[in-house]
Amino acid sequence: MELYSGHINRLIEELAALPGIGSKSAQRLAFHLINMPQDRVNRLANTIMEAKANVRYCSQCFTLTDNEVCPICANQKRNHNLIMVVENTRDMTAYEKTGKYEGVYHVLHGAISPMLGIGPNDIKLKELMLRLKEDVEEVIIATNSSLEGETTAMYISKLIKPTGVKVTRIASGVPVGGDLEYIDEVTLLRALEGRVEL
Ligand code: ZN
Repeated sequence: MELYSGHINRLIEELAALPGIGSKSAQRLAFHLINMPQDRVNRLANTIMEAKANVRYCSQCFTLTDNEVCPICANQKRNHNLIMVVENTRDMTAYEKTGKYEGVYHVLHGAISPMLGIGPNDIKLKELMLRLKEDVEEVIIATNSSLEGETTAMYISKLIKPTGVKVTRIASGVPVGGDLEYIDEVTLLRALEGRVEL
């Protein structure tokens, strides 16, 4: 016997499939949504659909943006010869919040993980190498200090070295396994300033 109606069960299943949402939270959210006024439910549903339909990758750095080129890449005051490589848009935002980084970014959308079957071709690595054909002075690798982040950093530095472009890695001091977005701005700046050449 089904405990809830089929519609509620489907809603709970969809919510529980989202990252960080367990079955208890999914149930709570499902009942919350059902009890919300119709216009708020419509607004939420529309916002999700509009975001999905309109957000795309920046043609240069591959961050998520509403335009062909994101505001950072479009900004001529930024140093386009300095590229910081990050795992995702949230990490990029974390560095952006420090307000002290003047270069541009490259968003990989993931990290190499043999355990999860994620290889170099599954992240935006080819796209990074293409950018190095332009005038680039330094690539700062700011992947997380997790096993995957370190593996990715090593892989990228080996790939870039033969091109003669300077490759640096942000300093440790960033807690091991720490997600960049949860680290405070002072620590991020220290990691950036203390970067070492690979
Ligand atoms: Zn961009």
